[in-house]
Amino acid sequence: MDIEIFLQIMFFVFGALIGSFLNVCIVRLPRNASVVFPASHCPQCQAPIHWFDNIPLVSFLVLGARCRACRKPIPWRYVLVEGITALFFLWSYISFGLSWALVPALTLVGGLIVASFVDLEWRIIPDEISVGGMWVGVVLSLFFPALHKGPAFNVLATGSITAFILAGVCMALHGLKLLKFKVPLAQEDRQIFILGGALLAWQWAAMTLTRALPHVALPLAALADALQGAIIGGCVLWLTGLIGEVIISKRVVTEFDFKGVVDDPEALLKAFHAQGYVDAQGNLQRVFRDVKAAGDLVLPPCVEAHRADIFEILHAVDEGGVMGWGDVKLLAMAGAFLGWQSVLLAFFIAPFFGAAFGLVKMARRQDSAIAYGPFLAIGIVVALYRGDSLMRWLLAMYGMN
Ligand SMILES: [Zn+2]
Repeated sequence: MDIEIFLQIMFFVFGALIGSFLNVCIVRLPRNASVVFPASHCPQCQAPIHWFDNIPLVSFLVLGARCRACRKPIPWRYVLVEGITALFFLWSYISFGLSWALVPALTLVGGLIVASFVDLEWRIIPDEISVGGMWVGVVLSLFFPALHKGPAFNVLATGSITAFILAGVCMALHGLKLLKFKVPLAQEDRQIFILGGALLAWQWAAMTLTRALPHVALPLAALADALQGAIIGGCVLWLTGLIGEVIISKRVVTEFDFKGVVDDPEALLKAFHAQGYVDAQGNLQRVFRDVKAAGDLVLPPCVEAHRADIFEILHAVDEGGVMGWGDVKLLAMAGAFLGWQSVLLAFFIAPFFGAAFGLVKMARRQDSAIAYGPFLAIGIVVALYRGDSLMRWLLAMYGMN
């Protein structure tokens, strides 16, 4: 058999196997369960799944999308994730060939698939993927610098200045916002400020060292580009959220927010007030900022069934109804893998897909609040595979290059 076709089949099969593992992550990470133990079992009847029923793509079809033990349907998501992962592995091989660029590219794609499917179901992006993935991207840049631009000092310097300006503007605006709304710095805000400061210092050090140590300039430049990408990726989205908050400036909870979610929004608002989550005008109070998960929310028993929705709405209002830290961290992760130029490209591509989908939803009169993570992921994937040709096309359009 032709070696080329053989390798393509191998990448497809390997991708399907990895997809099977990604399914485990999608189910277990948001529940804070281990992704290694226990072994695969049916979520409905707990029956263990034999190896011959756990073959990616094939078993789903053989079993007719039903559990062998209890005959309950297996969600389509399983075969979808396996298929998507298999196709991305095949596409990556076709795009990059047998090169070291495959290591960061496939790692990034795997992380994005988990983040997207968890975000669709739970409206959160696990820190294990976003923050953990960012560190993985930073470390991989040193050993597999292929996705980053070479050690051109003017590019690194431009990235460095952009990172300093963006981070400075974000931190200042965020501080002003806290002052304006008289909200103290939350634990998560503080962590992000410290992380931002550390990344800024490290990218500057890495950039400076590329000149001092020319024989290791290539990995050092990739490291600087990865750190700059993490800062710039996170900050452009952070800034978008801050600007949105200034324009929308909505941090007040009203009955309208819960219309159609609970039967008696007025009673719910009174319960929030009694709990100290909001004041009489509906302003969110500090007590709510310490509620980190839907489970921690103190609610009247009659609305127990809508706990997750209520938490999500309160959280959206708290974030100014625009964007959460989850998306910010996801784009920071992408920046660590792609570098600062490509992550900016991803940032500008994502809204096109998001807007197209939002219009379809609006036309069908569905709930217009959508998870943004999957659209960011699409933007990131386009920048990963087609970033260079897009960039060349844009430069050519302006008569440069
Ligand atoms: Zn079962």
